[in-house]
Amino acid sequence: MIELTDVVRQYRIGGEEVRALDGVSLRIESGQFVSVVGPSGAGKSTLLHILGALDSPDSGSVRFQGQEIANLGDDAQSQFRRHSVGFVFQFFNLLPTMSAWENVAIPQLLDGRRLRQVKPKALELLEKVGLGNRADHRPSELSGGQMQRVAVARALMMDPPLILADEPTGNLDSKTGAAILELLAAIAHQDGDRAIVMVTHSDAAAAVTDRVLTLTDGRLGADRLLVAEELSA
Ligand code: ADP
Repeated sequence: MIELTDVVRQYRIGGEEVRALDGVSLRIESGQFVSVVGPSGAGKSTLLHILGALDSPDSGSVRFQGQEIANLGDDAQSQFRRHSVGFVFQFFNLLPTMSAWENVAIPQLLDGRRLRQVKPKALELLEKVGLGNRADHRPSELSGGQMQRVAVARALMMDPPLILADEPTGNLDSKTGAAILELLAAIAHQDGDRAIVMVTHSDAAAAVTDRVLTLTDGRLGADRLLVAEELSA
């Protein structure tokens, strides 16, 4: 579904050049829950930003469902983001004055739809993430785990083939985090037509994904398929 070939992203800080990504090539298939691990500064966020067209590589190719997205113009880039990618963040990024279902509905409002039209789908998604009974609650009336469930439902609102999650359990206790990981895994595996890529510092979080990519100094090191390990164990 996504194929990166020789992706380089570099920054110049002072007189010095830093290669945040230094020739990364990889393929991600739908139906996979993939984690990206590595020390701080390894290039994990940069990789996530490039996968989500929030940033463009200096060289190399990024093909998404066969289409080159590495150097789209601003408009095409934001169209791509809006329709093809759902984002889940560490700090949830919910709008505090809106209810849970309104937060879920927001991506469709950007497409010119009205709240009333999209409410049924927002409610359906809240039901799917186990929050059907919290639809009218504001974020301040929800626990951290519930807020992250709202954010996951919002990421699904446009039915995107790719979900990118940046430390989605980083602000949750381990039990709540485990439940969110279970939800993400279920979403990735459900229809097999969606991939989830998650950046995490947590080995425990990475261990429940299907595949663990390790980045070090902008280079891809180990690429472990955990599902295969389980099958051969
Ligand atoms: P990680 O997410 O693994 O901590 P990042 O992708 O954030 O790593 O950063 C990789 C490297 O690129 C780091 O050395 C960082 O300092 C550098 N970097 C990232 N973003 C920028 C930027 N906007 N300007 C300059 N340097 C950056």
